[in-house]
Amino acid sequence: MEGQERDPKLKFKSLKEKCSPPSMKAIKNMGFKYMTEIQSAVLPRALDGDDIVATAKTGSGKTLAFLIPVVETVVKSEPNESTGTLCIIISPTRELAIQTYTVLQDIISFHGCITSSLVIGGENKKKQSMELSKGVHIVVATPGRLFDHMRTKEFDYRNVNCLVLDEADKIFQYGFEEDLKQIVNRLPKNRQTMLFSATLSERTEALIKSAMKDDFREINTSEDNIKATVDGLKQGYMVCETEYRMWWLHKMLKKTQNQKVMVFFSSCKSVVFHYEFFTRHCNASVLCIHGKMSQIDRSATMRNFYNAEKIALFCTDLAARGLDIPAVDWIVQFDPPSDTNEYIHRVGRTARGLGTVGNAVLLLRSEENGFIDHLKEAKIYLDKYESWDKYHNLQPKLEAAMQDPELRKMAEEAFEGYIRALEVRKLKHIFNVISMDMNKVAKSFGLEKAPEVDIHTGFSKKHRPRKRIAAILAAKTEDSNKRIKS
Ligand code: ADP
Ligand code: MG
Repeated sequence: MEGQERDPKLKFKSLKEKCSPPSMKAIKNMGFKYMTEIQSAVLPRALDGDDIVATAKTGSGKTLAFLIPVVETVVKSEPNESTGTLCIIISPTRELAIQTYTVLQDIISFHGCITSSLVIGGENKKKQSMELSKGVHIVVATPGRLFDHMRTKEFDYRNVNCLVLDEADKIFQYGFEEDLKQIVNRLPKNRQTMLFSATLSERTEALIKSAMKDDFREINTSEDNIKATVDGLKQGYMVCETEYRMWWLHKMLKKTQNQKVMVFFSSCKSVVFHYEFFTRHCNASVLCIHGKMSQIDRSATMRNFYNAEKIALFCTDLAARGLDIPAVDWIVQFDPPSDTNEYIHRVGRTARGLGTVGNAVLLLRSEENGFIDHLKEAKIYLDKYESWDKYHNLQPKLEAAMQDPELRKMAEEAFEGYIRALEVRKLKHIFNVISMDMNKVAKSFGLEKAPEVDIHTGFSKKHRPRKRIAAILAAKTEDSNKRIKS
């Protein structure tokens, strides 16, 4: 085993032989003396040029574990004017790319002549193209925009010798998969590749490994741990009847009004509706972020949230990955996560770094109780928090809000967004759209009765009636299997 190299008390100084003085100075300047466990396991290997697949819990310091080797790659390459780009770091979201780029600026601050560029969607392509044409050494990018540039003459990536995929399982997920394959295929084969994440999923693992050399190193510092989340995290769940979900959220926001809170929703539309309702009708101090906002608004919101001491951020899973936001007190999962991995990433936005604490609560409808067992199978253990017996009656406020046609439309769209997010879930026996009482769901968005929404079960329209019955039967079978097991 690699016991010695995993000593969490190893100093950055021990990398002196492998790491240039300006980098060492930058690390010291950032205030870091000792490496975290994943850093001391990864850095010596990565600095030797090995391919690496690294998994370590959220907030364990993975960013430096790849940024230091990236910078040292540039130092070793001794680039000249015609070298072009040498290293590419890919992130699944623009916000994470911005954050990584910011940390990178700290590390190259004493290097003088190392250049870098941020290449993300939603920002000026021409400006990015100009920067790339100058041959910046390090590019931090989101996959779609990077691939756009790879199809232009301006971007010279023939000498790229280091590729990093941060939150690798997310990048390889549906949507980015094709871009990623094309990107990886176009890059020089004799490069170093490093993959980082807190979670790897089976479905993406094969794909991920196809990007690596055969003799890659697998480093996993969360492997022998008895739980999948960090020690400083206090996590529990609460059960609430469908129609009172907004009442619950209202109370949660009141209880945490002097704290910094992230509230996760399953769709953009739901974020929008709840944001508008709680700011306009409840005077709540809330920010919101989702993928349908302009990049300018997204960046401004994130900046505000980073700097705030007490505020709630309503968000989609856009904000679930990688973000290192100071002092988040509560993670509220108002809508359940799509799977156990997404649960881990959402709660990973709090209790980050060494010796920190944070709170998380997952809201479930009573029909969704089975999710707790599912989480247990993934070594995620939640306490049951007692339900509150008193709620503020939100009904008058909701009725008033529904008089406004604009807000009413938002509620209807949010309702649909909520249903659509449930339809695509794998755990049909827990999140069962077909058996749901749609009127109660409607009420949970302030609506009197359910708007017309065509329920999909993941099949083409032509076959829907038959497939729908099949889906009902499948849900029943899973149910009875469960009963047989227990
Ligand atoms: P991860 O990517 O594993 O989720 P990050 O790289 O975002 O984690 O780091 C989490 C936090 O820990 C950041 O605020 C970072 O500045 C801090 N950190 C990183 N390395 C160290 C270290 N060696 N000592 C103390 N804090 C560190
Ligand atoms: Mg990270």
